[in-house]
Amino acid sequence: MDSKRRVLIVEDEMGISNFISAVLTASDYIVIKAVSGKEALEQTASYSPDVILLDLGLPDMEGLDVLQKIRAWSKVPIIIVSARDREREKVMALDLGADDYITKPFGTSELLARIRTALRHMQPNGKGVADDAIIQIQNLSIDDTRRLVKIANTEIHFTPIEYKILLLLARHAGKVLTHDFIIREIWGPYPSENQALRVNLSNIRRKIEKNPAEPVYILTEVGVGYRMVEE
Ligand code: CA
Repeated sequence: MDSKRRVLIVEDEMGISNFISAVLTASDYIVIKAVSGKEALEQTASYSPDVILLDLGLPDMEGLDVLQKIRAWSKVPIIIVSARDREREKVMALDLGADDYITKPFGTSELLARIRTALRHMQPNGKGVADDAIIQIQNLSIDDTRRLVKIANTEIHFTPIEYKILLLLARHAGKVLTHDFIIREIWGPYPSENQALRVNLSNIRRKIEKNPAEPVYILTEVGVGYRMVEE
């Protein structure tokens, strides 16, 4: 059996589609292409790709409709390919079940990293969350059984809420989490105030980042949410 991963590229601009296709083929992926929403749905069904790159601006259908139609029956990782300044659209796509997004124009290494992350989050329980007892990211280690967080070898203390946020981001490392998702996960469906996330986040950064103004662990995705780096 062929162990190569199949990527479906849904993109109507040939230049972009060919560029992505060349990059992926060189990295040993099998590429399938669709130029419309209708084709995307057909090819998802007939080729069962391992990951889908979905451009939201398609000629025949709204990209978000394509996303919803696929999500109605498939858990395949979907990475949205979006234009700059479309934060609302990105948030909507993530809320509708997209796994991630990448903003045009993007570089080769960013594209490949996003695909690797999406594939990794599909394994092995398919829930997209690592359950490892100890999470190690650069110098940051989180031992959830002991609730112990260290930077290098120095123990760092967090409030219970700060710890929950840090652990949530770390368990989804590499993936962007929307503000709403984080708030729901931490405070439940009736959060007391929106400001709390930002305040807690800056406290966490003060404790783990050398320079909180230029974070290396928790990145801000402007207008969308936060992303913990993977390595
Ligand atoms: Ca397009």
